[in-house]
Amino acid sequence: MELRIQNLLDDERCYEAVRKLRWGSEVKCPHCAAKEIVKRGRDEQEAGRQRYECKGCGKRFDDLTNTVFAGHHQPLKVWMIFLYFLGLNLSTRQIAQELNLNKGDAHRMAEVLRSGVVEQKPETALSGEVECDEVYVVAGHKGQPEAVKKRTARDDATG
Ligand SMILES: [Zn+2]
Repeated sequence: MELRIQNLLDDERCYEAVRKLRWGSEVKCPHCAAKEIVKRGRDEQEAGRQRYECKGCGKRFDDLTNTVFAGHHQPLKVWMIFLYFLGLNLSTRQIAQELNLNKGDAHRMAEVLRSGVVEQKPETALSGEVECDEVYVVAGHKGQPEAVKKRTARDDATG
C-alpha cells in the first residue's frame, strides 16, 4: 500500500487545531462576535466538527463557518497538513506530491491559505490586530509569515 501522511492523522485533532487557530480558548460567534455560545452536537458526516448556537443573535454555526475550509472538497486534514507544509516552506509542487493533489488544486489551496484561514468581513478587516492574527495563522506552527510570503514570490517566478 501507498503510505500517505493524511491517512496517519486524526480528524478530531484537526478540528481541535482549527478551533485553536480561529478562536484560541473561547468560541466567538462569527456573525455577531458574542461569546455566549451553546454547543449543538456534532456534524452528521464529520464527528470532529462541533456545532454551536449563539445566544446573542440566535444563529447557528460550526467550527468551519467563515473559514476557508468550508465549502471546499478537500477534507480538513488535507488542508491542515498543507498549512503545516507551507510553514516548513515546501513548494506547492512538493506539497502536491506529498498529498497526492493535482498541481492546479494545490496552487489554488496555497493561494487560499495565504489569504488567511478566517474569511475577512469588511468590518473586521479594518482592525490591524485581526490582520496580524491572520498572517500568523497563515504561517502556521512556525510563526514565520515572511517565509511564507517569500515562497509566494518564488512560486510565481517558477510557475
Ligand atoms: Zn451571534
